[in-house]
Amino acid sequence: MAKCECGCGEDANRAQFLPGHDQRLRTALDAEVGGLLPLRTLIRAAHAYFDGNLNDQTFTQTVRAILSSTRLPQSAETGQSTCRDEILECAQAVTRQSGLDHFTIPEIISCMAKRGSRYAESTIRTHIVSRMCANAPDNHAVTYRDLERTDRGEYRLLR
Ligand SMILES: [Zn+2]
Repeated sequence: MAKCECGCGEDANRAQFLPGHDQRLRTALDAEVGGLLPLRTLIRAAHAYFDGNLNDQTFTQTVRAILSSTRLPQSAETGQSTCRDEILECAQAVTRQSGLDHFTIPEIISCMAKRGSRYAESTIRTHIVSRMCANAPDNHAVTYRDLERTDRGEYRLLR
């Protein structure tokens, strides 16, 4: 006696599924990754990774981007991360990866896009160049002293 693989808890006797329940599992798997197209993206990424056409980092980013977008409705209830939070996380990720103490705006925008951020590029820029930048030219816009602009137009975390 084996339980039906769809997770319904019924006995499927010697089969893997009760009649029609393979379709239930397909639907559930689709839903788990946000639909048929993300499922295809995930499978293609897995193949490309297996074939060596995708490096670890790109594969990880793809998986994160797909799975993080499926969690958006949930995080909306529990309080989504702010643009500032995402910038700080990306700044740490970028500098950890580069081994440098500074980062650029395009690096942050690209990092946030890969993570499936809901923030527009202009919002991210505004945060970096003024709201979060301790030495921003427009000083009254500074809300958080998280970053510092270097004389080469790069940015550095202050903490
Ligand atoms: Zn079943």
